[in-house]
Amino acid sequence: MRVGVPKEIKNHEYRVGLTPASVAELVAAGHEVIVETKAGGGIDFSDGDYQSAGARIAASAAETFAAADMIVKVKEPQPQEIALLEPRHLLFTYLHLAADKPQAEGLMKSGATCIAYETVTANDRSLPLLKPMSEVAGRMSVQVGAHYLEKEQGGRGVLLGGVPGVAPARVAIFGGGVSGVNAAQMAVGMRADVTIYDISNARLAELDMFFGSQIKTAYASKAAIANAVTKAELVIGAVLVPGAAAPRLVTRDMLKTMKRGSVLVDIAIDQGGCFETSRPTTHQDPVYEVDGVIHYCVANMPGAVARTSAFALNNATLPFVLRLADQGAEEAMRSDPHLANGLNVSGGRIRHQAVAEALDLPF
Ligand code: NAD
Repeated sequence: MRVGVPKEIKNHEYRVGLTPASVAELVAAGHEVIVETKAGGGIDFSDGDYQSAGARIAASAAETFAAADMIVKVKEPQPQEIALLEPRHLLFTYLHLAADKPQAEGLMKSGATCIAYETVTANDRSLPLLKPMSEVAGRMSVQVGAHYLEKEQGGRGVLLGGVPGVAPARVAIFGGGVSGVNAAQMAVGMRADVTIYDISNARLAELDMFFGSQIKTAYASKAAIANAVTKAELVIGAVLVPGAAAPRLVTRDMLKTMKRGSVLVDIAIDQGGCFETSRPTTHQDPVYEVDGVIHYCVANMPGAVARTSAFALNNATLPFVLRLADQGAEEAMRSDPHLANGLNVSGGRIRHQAVAEALDLPF
């Protein structure tokens, strides 16, 4: 198959759909890969790197789309990219259509087959193509939290790990799923005093087995959360209720009980945030303060570490890209119901029930 990789054009997006190593795998499997010039430039993959991997470099997005049957991207297509899609195209990327009717209508009109990373499933009902970004955001949350706890950043002036003779900072993590566990691993590594709160007793038991005495676990009752925020220097919001807005765990009143200069990192901001005072921020202006508490609520945290994120995303997507290229969309989805769950749009219609319901469009 002819596989095209356009340069991402969404504001401040530096990731790329295929790394040179992924291109080499496709080429070795007998496929042709066309990469738009400078597609990986933001994360130091040169056109030469792609050529060495066996790709052909195209001068523009239009040339890339025209030369390819399958388009592999990172972010949802922007209007000028949707205009380049034709019914023969297979698009494989993050779409997040449920909250984006204009994009959904554009993709329907294009006639293309569009498979969304975020709705591909795995046997354990997890979302394997979202997982790497939760891992990145979880690990980053402790890094940014430690940074904003510094006095010069407006923080309390506290070192997460303490030093001999001085107690470490307390880190409260709400939600012990993928991002919560990755946050805990970093916080433990920095020798902080870590507690994970979750409402799943099964999950709490797994965390207890996994971390042993390195962390404490607690059931996320309202009382436990209210108590946790009064003590913690760093609070990380990592909850998810699939398909729903994040529960508001920390109220405005609770905020008033927190220590001045403590830090809230709301990873769940992309689902509305789990602190009442959260509002989305950007990497350009990542934090704001309410009642003396620093809020970090960047909705696309992995974008800050675009190179790591591009590798992590490719590790997860490449097996699916190879299967789609080898078998074609129809056969690949017929033989893998989890990949079929990724289908969002084809033949001018929405093909994913939850997406159709969210958009109030026929399924
Ligand atoms: P996950 O499903 O792996 O884990 C969520 C955990 O939250 C589960 O263990 C669940 O039991 C727990 N939970 C649910 N309700 C709870 C409650 N009321 N109190 C305590 N725990 C509760 O989810 P994840 O992959 O870790 O993702 C977490 C959030 O981070 C999602 O909203 C995801 O979209 C988001 N995310 C954000 C970024 C970013 O850049 N900001 C990047 C990646 C993921």
